[in-house]
Parts: sequence; C-alpha cells; structure tokens
Amino acid sequence: MHKDNQPLIFEITKEGRVGYSLPELDVPEVDLSEILPVGMMREEEAQLPEVSELDLMRHYTALSNRNHGVDTGFYPLGSCTMKYNPKINESVARFPGFANIHPLQDESTVQGAMEMLYDLQQSLVEITGMDEVTLQPAAGAHGEWTALMMIRAFHESNGDTQRTKVIVPDSAHGTNPASATVAGFETITVKSNEDGLVDLEDLRRVVGPDTAALMLTNPNTLGLFEEHILELAEIIHGVGGKLYYDGANLNAVMSKARPGDMGFDCVHLNLHKTFTGPHGGGGPGSGPVGVKADLIPFLPSPVLVKEDNKYTFDYNRPLTIGRVKPFYGNFGINVRAYTYIRSMGPDGLKAVTEYAVLNANYMMRRLEAYYDLPYNRHCKHEFVLSGRRQKKLGVRTLDMAKRLLDFGYHPPTIYFPLNVEEGMMIEPTETESKETLDAFCEAMIQIAKEVEENPEIVQNAPHTTVINRLDETKAARKPVLRYTKS
Ligand SMILES: *Cc1c(COP(=O)(O)O)cnc(C)c1O
Repeated sequence: MHKDNQPLIFEITKEGRVGYSLPELDVPEVDLSEILPVGMMREEEAQLPEVSELDLMRHYTALSNRNHGVDTGFYPLGSCTMKYNPKINESVARFPGFANIHPLQDESTVQGAMEMLYDLQQSLVEITGMDEVTLQPAAGAHGEWTALMMIRAFHESNGDTQRTKVIVPDSAHGTNPASATVAGFETITVKSNEDGLVDLEDLRRVVGPDTAALMLTNPNTLGLFEEHILELAEIIHGVGGKLYYDGANLNAVMSKARPGDMGFDCVHLNLHKTFTGPHGGGGPGSGPVGVKADLIPFLPSPVLVKEDNKYTFDYNRPLTIGRVKPFYGNFGINVRAYTYIRSMGPDGLKAVTEYAVLNANYMMRRLEAYYDLPYNRHCKHEFVLSGRRQKKLGVRTLDMAKRLLDFGYHPPTIYFPLNVEEGMMIEPTETESKETLDAFCEAMIQIAKEVEENPEIVQNAPHTTVINRLDETKAARKPVLRYTKS
C-alpha cells in the first residue's frame, strides 16, 4: 500500500549485520532458560531486522519526515488546541535544576522547584478565580475524575449519600460522561436547545435531591459560550449540587472571564492545551484542578503548601480523596506551563484569548457560504460546520477530511459533536497567521467546488500521501505488528 520507494526496515535487513559494537564478553555467559520461569522462553528466534546503525538512523529519520505536527503544518483539530509550543518552554524544562532532580530528594534540597510549582498553583488560582489548585492530575480526563471524586467525598461527608447522578449536556466533551461513570455516578444527559446551548427547561426537569453535580464544558463543543450560566448555577445550587467547569479549552475565555466568578465550585484545566504543553503520542499531560473553599479539605494529598517561607508537602489531610498521581504530577509539563505564563504575562494571556476567538470567527465567516453553519452565532475559539450539503452530492465529511491531506493540512475533528450531521470542528488557535488561515480557507473552498464539479477527486482522496485511505476500523483493531514477506 505504500507508494514511495522507502523500503520497510525488514526489506533492508542483511543477515549478520549489526547496529552496535560491544566489547567481548569477559564474564560467564548466563543461560536465560535457567533464570526465566518455565514457558516464558520464546521457542523460535525473534524476527528482528538486522541493519547497521547508519541504516537505522536513515530509516527512522525518513519516517519522522512523514509526520505531521504543529511544527510542520497547520493542525486545526477542534477541541485539541494544537497550537505552537514555544521553544523557550523546552529550554527552561532542561535547566539542570529542574531536569536532574529526583522526586524522592529531601524537600530542603528542592525548594526552588517547589516554589515554581507553588507559583504555578497561585497563577492558576488567579486565572480561574478558584481558592486552591492541585497540580497532581496527569491529564484533562484525570482532572475531571479527580474533581468528581472530591464532589462525591464532599456529599458523603454531609451524609448526602443519595446524590448519585451527574448531569452532562449533550454538547459536553466526550470525556465528561466517561469520567462521571468511572467515578461511580450515573450520567444524565440534557439536551441542547436550537441555539446550541443547554436547554434550561430540560435541565430543570432532571435536577433533584439525587443531583451530585453538573459538568459544563464551556465553551461547549460547538464552540459556543453558555450564556445562561448564572441561571444554570442557580438551578444546580438550588438543589444542593456542585458545578463543575470543564476548562480544557480555557483559551476561549482566559483573562476575560473566570469560572470562579461564574459560580463554579471546581474546574480542570489542560496545561497541554491552553498553556502550551506539547501533546500527542500519549506524552505526559497535566490537568490541574481548582476548587472553591468547601472542597479544599478533599484535595488529593499531599497538598503543596507554603509555611514560614518554606515549601512543604502536607500529608495531614484527614478528608483527602488520597493521592491521584505518584509524586506530584508531571513535573516537566508544569515547568513548561509556568514558563509560558511568566513569559506571556497578563496582557499576553489576554491577547491569546482575543486572537483565538478572532481567528475562529474570521474562518467561520469566510467559510459559511460554502458549508452549512448549523449554529449561526459568534463562536469562541472554535466553530462547527456541517457537510450535509455536500452529503447530498454523495461526498461525506470523511472524504473532505481526507482531501485536506492533499493540501498538507491535518483535518479538523469530524463527526463531533454528535448532534451535528457530518460535523467538522475547526480550531485554528491564536498562534496562526492570517496568511495560514486564508490558505486553509482557500483549500476548504476549493474542496467545496470539487464536490460540485468533480466529486471523485474528493471521494478517492488522499492522492499525495504515502499511503492511500486506510480502513480505519481495521487499522485500529488489527494493526500490522509483524511483517511477513509476501
Ligand atoms: C481535551 C479535552 C478534554 C480531555 O483532556 P485529556 O487531557 O485528553 O484527557 C476534556 N474536555 C475538553 C473540553 C477537552 O477539549
């Protein structure tokens, strides 16, 4: 299926060729079969490629050139905030004082690192309007779960054991209902109204004494700001529930509005989105959680505190939900986020939000004549188009996403949110220039024209990539783990 002539590493193998040189063995050789438990030894030789170090280097360098990343091209993957990660973050994360410390070192020897973490916490307290922040959770979904466990502990400490339900709007991020389920709650879905916002009537119908919390993604996955927040807060607090803010996409509101001021009791952030931690490849993330005062006793322990100008980890937290991450979160990614916040400053962070929102609205208005816009309102950091007009001509959103690859772009998020037919969720981010936004819009416009004039070219896309269209289900379920010469 691969179209260029880069051979597979199994095709350049030469028997006996090695990519290492070790000194001759000068100790007795160990017979593995005497050490390994019976049945653990492989019966046939592993079929490993045999190549030189240089061949290996060239092979992987060539493969790496096929990767698409933020540093190689535009990546408007909705909800994922694939923005530029400033390289100064990397330099600071490599400072020996940060990179070479060990998490088991005595606190007195890592006061500087702890001060940095503490300052980061305080910055996030300020940015979110919360009273305290934990940096332990390793990702957004982990932060959601951590916050829900605190909410559950809070209700239980009040003897409120009947609060078993978490309300999640249908425009929430998919991790919300998943986290609620993993935290042991029953998820109740509320619908969006025709403006794409939470339907308050529907919400009033489902709340009650069994409501533990409402999880609100804001802006929601349609890129729309939930306008009736104060009413919504009244409804939830009125029945004794807690309000949870999914702040993974804080770049839409940062320095303009704060969840804490809107009545929310807790919030999680994605430092690997808004705060420029690199993400992808399953790399380490960071999903800090901010809470209001009445949830503080339940924070994961230990809590990083400052006492008499010293930083220390406080383990004496009788009501804590316990530790949610070994040591204290993903340290390196927290260094990057701290560097970003300090290098941007308050005005810089405000500009981030303004440009993220301006860029998204600019693209939405450039494209609305060519694609259906299911919710015609100002958007925040992202917007959702529908390919239903193109579907009538026999071209699916998936086809158009594949066609974008021919133009060198990563496609947007597609078929999400679920309530939009043939959805395309586009998030340009603030770090892209107008020229890049225009070039992407031109490609989208050309594709819309191709759908009308020459649909096959879209239906059979991509044409210029190394491999053709994959059977995505098969690629996910049956990846080729072993090459056999045909
Ligand atoms: C990305 C995202 C999440 C999940 O974050 P992970 O770090 O991938 O677990 C949750 N909510 C929203 C709105 C998101 O965009």
